Amino acid sequence: MNRRRLLRAGAALPLIPDSWPSWSRPVPAAAAGSASSRVRPGDPEWPSAASWDQLNRDVGGRLIRVESPLAACIEAPESATCAHVFDSLQNPYYLGDEVGLTQTLGWVDAWTSRPSVYAVAARTTDDVVAAVNFAREHHLRLVVKGGGHSYQGTSNAADSLLIWTRRMNAITVHDAFVGTGCEGQSAPQPAVTVEAGAIWGQVYDAVTTQAGRYVQGGGCLTVGVAGLIQSGGFGSFSKTYGMAAASLLEAEIVTADGAVRIANACTHADLFWAIKGGGGGSFGAVTKLTLQTHDLPEFFGAVFTTIEAASDDAFRRLIGQVITFYSEALFNPHWGEQIAFRPGNVLDIAMVFQGLDQQQAEATWRPFFDWLAASPQDFRIASGPTVLAAPARPFWDPEFLAQVPGLVLADDRPGAPETNVFWASNLEEAGQVLHGYQSAWLPAALLQENRQQSLGDALFAASRHWSVSLHTNKGLAGAPADAIAAARETATHPAVLDAFALLISAAEGPPAYPGLPGHEPDRTTAHNQAKAIDSAMQEVRKLLPNTGSYLAESDFFAAAWRDAFWGPNYARLLAVKDTYDPDGLFVVHHGVGSERWSDDGFTRLERC
Ligand SMILES: Cc1cc2nc3c(=O)[nH]c(=O)nc-3n(C[C@H](O)[C@H](O)[C@H](O)COP(=O)(O)OP(=O)(O)OC[C@H]3O[C@@H](n4cnc5c(N)ncnc54)[C@H](O)[C@@H]3O)c2cc1C
Repeated sequence: MNRRRLLRAGAALPLIPDSWPSWSRPVPAAAAGSASSRVRPGDPEWPSAASWDQLNRDVGGRLIRVESPLAACIEAPESATCAHVFDSLQNPYYLGDEVGLTQTLGWVDAWTSRPSVYAVAARTTDDVVAAVNFAREHHLRLVVKGGGHSYQGTSNAADSLLIWTRRMNAITVHDAFVGTGCEGQSAPQPAVTVEAGAIWGQVYDAVTTQAGRYVQGGGCLTVGVAGLIQSGGFGSFSKTYGMAAASLLEAEIVTADGAVRIANACTHADLFWAIKGGGGGSFGAVTKLTLQTHDLPEFFGAVFTTIEAASDDAFRRLIGQVITFYSEALFNPHWGEQIAFRPGNVLDIAMVFQGLDQQQAEATWRPFFDWLAASPQDFRIASGPTVLAAPARPFWDPEFLAQVPGLVLADDRPGAPETNVFWASNLEEAGQVLHGYQSAWLPAALLQENRQQSLGDALFAASRHWSVSLHTNKGLAGAPADAIAAARETATHPAVLDAFALLISAAEGPPAYPGLPGHEPDRTTAHNQAKAIDSAMQEVRKLLPNTGSYLAESDFFAAAWRDAFWGPNYARLLAVKDTYDPDGLFVVHHGVGSERWSDDGFTRLERC
């Protein structure tokens, strides 16, 4: 009952703007329960109670009838229970543990998080097989959710069956791993095998804190491993260790036919390539991943500062200086993370480094801070500068992190494990509603002396509209040759190889849900901010009309998404899709093959 009301509230939302070409609109209702149309509750073909009971037995009692905690707010928006739910929405561990929620609650005009009807809370590969077979046989809309961090809303769908991997999180560290079928072909190497529902914080604990090794994952500690690897994946130190997907050695994956396949360089190499950046939720349900590990450097560290320029002219000079400084001193494997250009002539620096000690890091930045100090009338250091190097091994140790004021926040639920911490900087993203999000890879050619001026002009012009941030660890130019070579073997758009950074411009609002009085998303602000983001990014697109991006951190509304996310790799990805999922059991917004399906993933289109 509650769930139905929640769905009705969601149904009052404006329709998702249509980015599909007119000739490929959904055909009016093909018969539900055929290969071209999925069934919903209430359709005669919807599985009987006895069929659901059978599935529940097949998965050892782990079938859940999904209820969203937000249903309490539909019943009583002013209640203390609802207030408590909204407080909890800012805890990413709470969100991750709720089968009916996602980390982002929606994106204005794009999508709203909707609970599935049923979920298999999988613990084993057999559970996943049973769910895949059940969905295929009964023509259900199938969704897979791990960490639940998709910005694009691809780990939730109304009227669906969900495979929820949260409880599959075993982690095994290997000294000498050889892929199945690769015996005699590849040398044993240190690695870690991770079940699909693990989050990066758990992996860093096992690999770095416990075993003293490094594994390339994402920055946010609560992002899921399987989702990040399949979307390419970048972490703070990707300028050294490359894309996370490139470190995949082997995956176990349940394909649409219910087969459990091992994918690696020697077995199902096509599928192996596709899941390295081809996008989650498109090729099958991944159950296990084995990732290469690396020697740990001695030090990690970070540099933070905020600088205000006194005038537009001073800000232009500051932008020019920071570009030159980046290209001369930071454009190398030691440095990653962000330089942001904000309206009001503000520059925010939040960079990280590896392999340098305190003295070396300070020496690197001295010329930049000396330059600033020489013009006190033009520049004010509003915060910092903080330059901090620390031993690498405790870098992700929650006990160590808790000692640094303001760095991490804890899961505040009674009885929560002390290891459940998250970066304070990720707080705003917990339960957020996105207002806009766009990104673009910036080629390293823009750092050449004769192009720096035009790059600076574009960043200045963009910052008149909205903040834009260079994520210097999300482009591989400047990385070691082996990291670039490994990324070339992934399905990610090759533009990543020559990009020195991914430029991101985004805005979000606090937790909100359409149809909930007192908790509605602020649509006016959202529209204004989306427009400002668009104007900011247009300034950069004047320089780079056709630049790509990667799907995980990009625009829901991107019209040319196939080109933008995969470029020349798209045709090959579609061929892999046709080999392993010809009927499109796995479909997500702007995923490979999704152009053949209606926006809601329920109706196969006549033409594509
Ligand atoms: C706060 C925040 C911080 C982020 N930081 C980074 C970052 O530092 N670096 C970076 O690269 N990205 C980052 N991202 C993007 C993130 O990596 C992607 O959204 C990623 O896909 C999330 O994975 P997930 O498992 O948490 O999400 P989910 O929403 O559960 O899954 C994402 C997609 O993968 C699919 N999927 C999940 N598990 C499986 C599986 N087992 N088998 C098949 N498909 C599966 C889902 O169906 C969905 O389509 C961030 C996102 C957020 C919200």
